[in-house]
Amino acid sequence: MPYPYLHMLFGLGAKATKPSRFSFVMFGATQIAIDLQPLFNRIYPSLLERHTPTHTLIGATIIMFICLAFRIPLGNLLKIMIDRRAAFYGAATGVYSHIFLDAIIHREVSANLFWPYRIESHLYGIMGNRSLTLACIAFGTLGAIWLWRQGKVMEYLALLKK
Ligand SMILES: [Zn+2]
Repeated sequence: MPYPYLHMLFGLGAKATKPSRFSFVMFGATQIAIDLQPLFNRIYPSLLERHTPTHTLIGATIIMFICLAFRIPLGNLLKIMIDRRAAFYGAATGVYSHIFLDAIIHREVSANLFWPYRIESHLYGIMGNRSLTLACIAFGTLGAIWLWRQGKVMEYLALLKK
């Protein structure tokens, strides 16, 4: 995925499906954690590959558990209570949607999804970059409208003012 905000738009849509049972904060935390490797790869290309192993099923699952381990400190930092079950759904949706969306855009993510096994996932190119971008924008926008109509957006803004 070329832009991280598209992952977050996907998360917004996912959040709207079950607002009280989905931690958007935990979803966001996984997006940052999983893309640390591509970031380091840009800085030190010779030290790390760009996507493997974080953008694989095993790597993503490990990142999900690492993020879940930081549920309470993250909640304390943001002064919110992150429900354990909501954290799990947010983190799981975060990591697995991330590698799924990245596999559509990045050939090496598609090829290494089942790392260490060399099984091609055939996800690469099932959608064009522009179509995927538009789909994420549409899903996120619908999610934002849905959350707004349920009064959730005002709830979150009130939390930020505390
Ligand atoms: Zn990524």
